[in-house]
Amino acid sequence: TSFEQFELNRQLLNAVAELGYSEPTPIQQQTIPLSLGNHDVLGIAQTGTGKTAAYLLPILMKVKYAQGQNPRALILAPTRELVMQINQAVSELGKFTDLRHVALYGGLGPKTQIEALRKGIDIIVATPGRFMDLYRTGEIVTKEIRTMVLDEADKMMDMGFMPQIRSILEIIPRKRQNLLFSATFGGRVERLSAEFLEAPIKIEV
Ligand code: AMP
Repeated sequence: TSFEQFELNRQLLNAVAELGYSEPTPIQQQTIPLSLGNHDVLGIAQTGTGKTAAYLLPILMKVKYAQGQNPRALILAPTRELVMQINQAVSELGKFTDLRHVALYGGLGPKTQIEALRKGIDIIVATPGRFMDLYRTGEIVTKEIRTMVLDEADKMMDMGFMPQIRSILEIIPRKRQNLLFSATFGGRVERLSAEFLEAPIKIEV
């Protein structure tokens, strides 16, 4: 099996090859076709399984690069470190495209983040708090968001992000694809996925 089996474009396949990924990991094997087919996905997977590329590659395949002003995909993660790491993966996998992306997180002034948003953006990777702050000040237009990812959902619940996640769900379009990844599947993540996902396909690795 190879990445060539998926309906990904040449820019993405070249990036994958350059990163030295010779074959898809089990979570990638299962998630990529489902996500390309617009299904909601509930992925139970630890860090190190390749889950980031599993949800990023279909997003990078579906968003139109460098078109218009407003974001088409939103990826939420609990910490600044994880947001930076995901954003780095977007850079690497998207290196042969001209897509525009930004990492939004707290702990520093929002000036550069706002500048990036104002230039026009395709994909946002954010912590829930900073995303809502910038939304409230009018820097983010959510109406074109078609894909939403919650990464490390269990950790987001542990850190008390449920209210912010609820607020975000209220301000993004109802008609969208949702992907939720979590290392564990307990009561709270189960409730979150019931609230947030539509007829999800559950993948456990
Ligand atoms: P993740 O679970 O998304 O944090 O990924 C863990 C690590 O695996 C990252 O350093 C990725 O660059 C790497 N990785 C992701 N997919 C593959 C693959 N198909 N083959 C080899 N390495 C991979």
